[in-house]
Amino acid sequence: MQTETDARKEILRICRLLWERGWVANHDGNVTMRLGGGRILATPTGISKNRIALDELLTVDLEGRKLGGLTRPFSELGLHLRVYRLRPDVHAVVHAHPPTATGFALAGMGLDIPAMPEPVVSLGPGIPTVPYAFPGADAEAALAPFLEQHDAVLLARHGALSWGVDTEQAYLRMELVEHVARITLVAYQLGGVPVLPPDHVERLRQARSKAGLGPAGRRKAAAPAHPPAPAAAPGRGAGRAAGGGAGDGARGGAGKAAGAPAAALPAQPGPPPRSAAVRQPGPSHPRELEPGALGPVPVAPPSARLPSAAAVAAAAPPAARAGEAELGRVIGEEIARALSGGQG
Ligand SMILES: [Zn+2]
Repeated sequence: MQTETDARKEILRICRLLWERGWVANHDGNVTMRLGGGRILATPTGISKNRIALDELLTVDLEGRKLGGLTRPFSELGLHLRVYRLRPDVHAVVHAHPPTATGFALAGMGLDIPAMPEPVVSLGPGIPTVPYAFPGADAEAALAPFLEQHDAVLLARHGALSWGVDTEQAYLRMELVEHVARITLVAYQLGGVPVLPPDHVERLRQARSKAGLGPAGRRKAAAPAHPPAPAAAPGRGAGRAAGGGAGDGARGGAGKAAGAPAAALPAQPGPPPRSAAVRQPGPSHPRELEPGALGPVPVAPPSARLPSAAAVAAAAPPAARAGEAELGRVIGEEIARALSGGQG
């Protein structure tokens, strides 16, 4: 069973990955993990992700009140807590500023296009950009509408936020966001991003649900595998509840808590969040896409190709973009000009 020390080590592992990959600088980025009893383990403010010590992590409750630790919580904690409050299935949240994804978020160009099959299954049809709002309560309110449908978002003018059933899944989603951003940038440089045919997006959406991902998939995963027997043998149900598989622990608990406030979780550490210490392929980790599961994906016809970055930037309707978005468009045009050799 994972101890709190294991959980602390796991957070430090993720922090180092973020730093090694250059996705955080200075004191940027933060990682949290749900512990039992409504406690959240969090990275401290003011310390590089490369230098945090185990005892510098702190614990807070779901309202952000500090429960333990000598350090101070980071200012973006409210974003993480909003995720935990609205998504009982989530046990870890990662925030970073991966340069390419953040560049898209800054330029207002977005990644919300279903262009490649695998990210559609893993993250949904596109990675949305949460509109810019002043850091704090406004930014948290802006994030809220995206939590039900998505597992990773860009934050306009800021960075990216991802979440999952454990730190590994939350981290891998951040990795995928940055990977998609890098590929998309290259595609724009080469002429445009072909959109997947709508019927394929629908099939991929179904694959996503089948893998236990997305709202429908989560509902299915949380539902009992078999209808309850009218008269279960005494003790059998209890045995299952107490002795579920290692991976089922955190997620099964979360599933039962669906619809109830996360603060109603058991008061004691209980089943640990899954992490590197218990990471293993198994029924608990939603499968994201089996190779070849969807058959060959046809190349989109030229008519389905998106316009180039220059055209996207130039076509942005000013009326629909006030303030922040307008500045994003200007920056987008600058990038488009650079990409097209100054002919934009
Ligand atoms: Zn940030």
